[in-house]
Amino acid sequence: MMMTTTTRDATVVDTYAKLEPAALSWHIDESPSATTVELSGEIDETADFAGLRRRLRGPVVFVLAGVRRVNSCGVREWIEFVRGLDSVTFVACSTAFVAQLNTIYNFRGPAKVRSFFAPYRCTRCGREEEKLLLVATHFPGRSRKPPEFGCDRCSAPMELDDVPVRYLSFLDG
Ligand SMILES: [Zn+2]
Repeated sequence: MMMTTTTRDATVVDTYAKLEPAALSWHIDESPSATTVELSGEIDETADFAGLRRRLRGPVVFVLAGVRRVNSCGVREWIEFVRGLDSVTFVACSTAFVAQLNTIYNFRGPAKVRSFFAPYRCTRCGREEEKLLLVATHFPGRSRKPPEFGCDRCSAPMELDDVPVRYLSFLDG
């Protein structure tokens, strides 16, 4: 399903885009092994997953890098939606999505999390960057030690810019 927008004067569109939350949209890519759904925008009370649900069959992979915000109404919609799916994988979870995984019971439903973004900060120059962490690669077994990266600007180590036991708690969920 494509979101449609009415034609507006370009200046008005710009203003509108800044003031209004971005409605959730998705892009579906079907292959023989899995259906991949890329979500972007905000998961809130306007998110209507019924239309999407009807198009899903077999294993589903959600690409979640574009999820910018989830509000409490969206949490309810999402939980209802994912609990009805059988085989689900989350990849590239945004930091907003990880925050929900860490605080809302059942937010992940039956899903496995394969990869997610985490906020990093350089220990020397303070540069901030979100890094994509791969669960199987960076957290083998029970390891919960966040990987280090080198800063692109000054090559000093970058570290997770959050409390690791808190930000990574969903890995034990
Ligand atoms: Zn640096």
